[in-house]
Amino acid sequence: MHKNVRVLIVDDDANICESLKNVLSEEDYTVISAGTLALGKEKLAEEFYNVTLVDLNLPDGSGLELLKELKKANSVTAMIVFTGYASVENSIAALNEGAFSYLQKPLNLDELKITIKKALQTQELTLNNKDLLNKLKELNMKDPLTNLYNYRYLKERLSSEFKRAQRYGLSLSVIMIDIDYFKSVNDIYGHQFGDLILREFGQCLKDSSRDNDIVIRYGGEEFLILLPDTIKARVISFAGRLLDRLGAHVFDPEGKKIKLKTSIGLVSFPEDSMDTGMTLVDSADKALQAAKEMGGNRLADFAEVEIFKEQVSNQSGKLEKENVEQLKKKLLMMKNRVNQTLLEAIYAFAKAIESQDYYANEHAESMGSIVVAIGKKLKLSDKEIENLKHTAILHDLGKIGIPDKILHKKEKLTERDFDKIKTHPQISVEILRCVHFLKGIAFMVLHHHERFNGFGYPNGLKGENIPLGARIIAVADVYQALISDRPYRKAYSKKEALKIVKEGIGTQFDPEIVKVFLEII
Ligand code: GH3
Ligand code: MG
Ligand code: MG
Repeated sequence: MHKNVRVLIVDDDANICESLKNVLSEEDYTVISAGTLALGKEKLAEEFYNVTLVDLNLPDGSGLELLKELKKANSVTAMIVFTGYASVENSIAALNEGAFSYLQKPLNLDELKITIKKALQTQELTLNNKDLLNKLKELNMKDPLTNLYNYRYLKERLSSEFKRAQRYGLSLSVIMIDIDYFKSVNDIYGHQFGDLILREFGQCLKDSSRDNDIVIRYGGEEFLILLPDTIKARVISFAGRLLDRLGAHVFDPEGKKIKLKTSIGLVSFPEDSMDTGMTLVDSADKALQAAKEMGGNRLADFAEVEIFKEQVSNQSGKLEKENVEQLKKKLLMMKNRVNQTLLEAIYAFAKAIESQDYYANEHAESMGSIVVAIGKKLKLSDKEIENLKHTAILHDLGKIGIPDKILHKKEKLTERDFDKIKTHPQISVEILRCVHFLKGIAFMVLHHHERFNGFGYPNGLKGENIPLGARIIAVADVYQALISDRPYRKAYSKKEALKIVKEGIGTQFDPEIVKVFLEII
């Protein structure tokens, strides 16, 4: 370890230098000497020394000057001062300037060795503290989930980047990104799963940006990219590509495949006139809100925001009371969003109709009347019963993601076929996730293949942990399937089907639900 310890001796007495060198080399220190103050300064500027031994009286000045210089540079080099004639003032001055210790000539070599050792110990502590401080500082600036920089870092970095841009006439752009309907991911798959998605999302942003760009987790599911030296035209094309890339990315933590839509707001200095870094960020946020109000899954340039707002207020016309006008404005903005949602709903249904699961339609209808009857018998609320009906219609939507050759297979399904089939509840949920008014049914759809004994899929939920609606759907679904012709078998008679359902009591099905089912059938 000592080999790495570097000691500098600054003394004009060549004999002293020589003898100290010999003694300290025995300790395995690397020892260098300098005969003047100027040479000493030079050596210290060139390289790091753990310890410097300096004579106060040098031919070209006082050793105190070295001390002052090291102090100014915030150096951790330990300074041990010595002098030929004792003087209390000198020793006090040296210690005041931050010397570690003060020794008197002729030097007691043992005392010197011990002093150096003590200085090294103190120095190690200081270095460790500095290290820790740096690490703490870094941790303080990073978001632990995504390992991206956080808001605190943004604030620090933003003002210096903005000043730099102003001073040198450079561009500075900001992109603000928010995931659309992210809450539904948490609602359906849980917060922990949401965390995994956020982490992957952050990585995606990092992969999409240049080394110079600064990617920040702004908060929650909002991210920000600071793009130094980037003009508006370039940031628009970058953001467009980013939007496409994020939209095409398949997030698949835990093997569940999920796609996300995002909204992006952007702003550029100096194209958009700004006077501080933070107004740049606020403006990007305004642009982002406008992107959301225009329906989401798109980007908005801050320069467009005013135009958009004007359109909205023109549409709302002149109303007498200001709050009425406010409300109307809000409704108009919301309308844009609702339209987008409806569009998505229609799209989802259209996709379902395309899937020609030959018996699906009839199946869904008869199932609907069974679950409604069960729901009524269980005295569920109207809303819950309506949700059950929706679920009966939509629970197998995800089968459009399963290859026809598996769905229509006449032979026995292989394990791999079955694994594929098992993904359909999750695919259904993915299709339905963004349709807000169907929010209440996602749980039932996801869990309609769970078994009461915990051996079902996708989560192996057991007993009452399976949502009630899913337990109801399970019974109706199986019964309805049994009494229909399937590719691999003819329909069972009602009597046979009921017998099979009864056999599943307590294993596949909730006994309570089967009891009610048998009453209504
Ligand atoms: P919008 O399309 O308007 O952006 O809807 P949204 O649901 O994405 O946005 P909203 O702001 O209503 O909700 C944000 C959600 O993000 C709420 C919260 O559950 C989720 N969220 C925020 N931070 C975290 C996090 O650290 N982990 C997880 N899993 N979810 C988070
Ligand atoms: Mg969001
Ligand atoms: Mg949000």
